[in-house]
Amino acid sequence: MTATKQQEEVVMIDDPRAATLVTVTGWRSRDGRFYGDNEHSARWAGCTHVKCRACGKPTKKLYSACQSCRDKAAEAKYDAMPTAEWDGVAMLYSDSRDEYFGSPEDAEDSLEEGQTLADLKLRICEPKYARPIDYSNWHDQLPSDSNCDAPYWLEDAVDQFNAAISGQPPLSWSPSEVALRIEK
Ligand SMILES: [Zn+2]
Repeated sequence: MTATKQQEEVVMIDDPRAATLVTVTGWRSRDGRFYGDNEHSARWAGCTHVKCRACGKPTKKLYSACQSCRDKAAEAKYDAMPTAEWDGVAMLYSDSRDEYFGSPEDAEDSLEEGQTLADLKLRICEPKYARPIDYSNWHDQLPSDSNCDAPYWLEDAVDQFNAAISGQPPLSWSPSEVALRIEK
């Protein structure tokens, strides 16, 4: 069998066949970028405001709803929360002020004239305790070719650490989805 080697085509860079000039139509955003047929992306890039999904008013494009609709939604969410008594320990968080208080009395002291405790929209906070450690922390450092347990000294150190942090005060508090019950 005689292999006839096919002649490889040669197209020089200045050969008209190498490329031809075409005209394309597409969307260009206000800041000058070309988005092809993606009108939405071009409009998104070029706009500063979008319509509020609730009331339709112009809203900065990072938000899907305007400030007034977001405030209303936050208020409705707060009003729908279950309520509980203060346990005498937990920090309280004010939804309307974005501020923490150590007790209902502290919160009351901060009220401005004509305000009541209800205006602060207080939420009971949850404690965030220091996280205990476990051996998975060193999982990637233990020998991988067997079901090797952590050495005894490491187990001891972990046990000691976990014993030392248990029963300690929380590191921080974060607002829960439970509102402070206020007697009216
Ligand atoms: Zn709105």
